[in-house]
Amino acid sequence: MTILIAGGGIAGLTLGLTLHQIGVPFHIYESTPEIRPMGVGINLQPNAVRELLDLGLANALDSIGVKTRQYGFYSKLGKTIWEEPRGTWAGYAWPQYSVHRGAFQMMLYHALIDRAGPDCLSTGARAKGFESTDKGAALLLTDGRRIEGDLIVAADGIHSALRAQIAPNEGPPIWNGRILWRGTTRAKAFLGGAAMVMIGHDQLRLVAYPISEPDENDNVTLNWIAEKRFDPSSAWKREDWNRAADINDFLPEFSNWKFNWIDVPALIKGAEVVYEYPMVDRDPLDRWTHGNVTLMGDAAHPTYPVGSNGAGQAIIDARIIGARLLDHGITAAALQAFEDEVRPIATRVGRANRAGDGPDGVLQQVEDLCGGDFEDINSVIPLDDLAAHAAKYKSLAGFSIEELNAKPPIIAKGAKIT
Ligand SMILES: Cc1cc2nc3c(=O)[nH]c(=O)nc-3n(C[C@H](O)[C@H](O)[C@H](O)COP(=O)(O)OP(=O)(O)OC[C@H]3O[C@@H](n4cnc5c(N)ncnc54)[C@H](O)[C@@H]3O)c2cc1C
Repeated sequence: MTILIAGGGIAGLTLGLTLHQIGVPFHIYESTPEIRPMGVGINLQPNAVRELLDLGLANALDSIGVKTRQYGFYSKLGKTIWEEPRGTWAGYAWPQYSVHRGAFQMMLYHALIDRAGPDCLSTGARAKGFESTDKGAALLLTDGRRIEGDLIVAADGIHSALRAQIAPNEGPPIWNGRILWRGTTRAKAFLGGAAMVMIGHDQLRLVAYPISEPDENDNVTLNWIAEKRFDPSSAWKREDWNRAADINDFLPEFSNWKFNWIDVPALIKGAEVVYEYPMVDRDPLDRWTHGNVTLMGDAAHPTYPVGSNGAGQAIIDARIIGARLLDHGITAAALQAFEDEVRPIATRVGRANRAGDGPDGVLQQVEDLCGGDFEDINSVIPLDDLAAHAAKYKSLAGFSIEELNAKPPIIAKGAKIT
């Protein structure tokens, strides 16, 4: 009885760790020639951190991540719209972490290899599709191999080959006109450290947060994302979706963003590395599961990275697949039960992110109401409304404080498949 997993990113590796924990044989097929630390910063919300702790990764996670203490929105003039504590400071039983995606992926990879052995994952193995078989399903690789298993889980990201087979007319991801430039810079932390900030409005914004602890000189690695909106019908380098970028393409737009707590132009100029990425998502599918095959992570629900929970959703998917396998055995029914539970939530989150109903929606509201200039934010938007908006998204995305703290674990300690 084997589960074949296409893709060894955050979703695929967490599923591998979960299957090993509950005693289900599996094999991961990853397209890259070797697992390398790719990307820049990501955030892991308390609901996802809880699952990583349940996987016995507390120390490993703590050694690579920063416990996020505070999260806030600021106008283009640097004025505070909304600040809230995060993680345990907010009352969650688990912290929120900001981490380098590559370091996190390597941590998952090493934990998996240590526990399940090096033979559980093949690199240089690109999936191109699947076939149903009498006993389960076969994964087809581009090198001509056909591997039979009981179930297949597609964790092959936003450009998923298996999703393309399930939804052949879907085409490429949908660009909304925004370009993100993602970078890291060694600099002094701001607002007391371990703070995540979003500054600006829908046309121009900057997100920044530390992904390392301070060194002896109080310097941290700051992860930042500069974002600008273009006309979606323009041909702005649409063909290049993940490439090294030139800061002169966007630095002039931020030249006045020097506040007494953060110097945005200096942050951008000090970058060690900058990548360009268009803000893309896909329309929700009305099915993820086809017999013995299902989708998870970005292959199932690629969404705009505005709610800091894309990687977290991939982790939760892995854990719910594990839980439903415990309920239903290694069967198509387990995959369908996973989809029935997660797809409606993922569809709502994706739609909210697209509609500007994500937590960052307040930035544009303040820009519209007062151009970002105010003495007392309460006279622009009542603080109660800001608090209600922040709480609504957490509930939608599955990390409301009270609900999460009260929830039993997704997978009970010591649970094994029989
Ligand atoms: C190189 C890279 C850099 C990223 N950088 C960032 C970042 O800086 N910030 C951020 O917020 N998000 C980033 N992401 C996206 C983020 O990791 C995901 O949104 C989220 O973690 C969900 O994880 P996932 O495992 O579903 O998808 P991903 O993390 O995208 O993982 C998909 C995996 O599948 C592999 N794969 C793709 N096609 C195939 C195939 N046909 N067969 C087999 N394997 C395949 C990929 O190589 C990858 O390892 C990045 C993703 C990648 C692949």
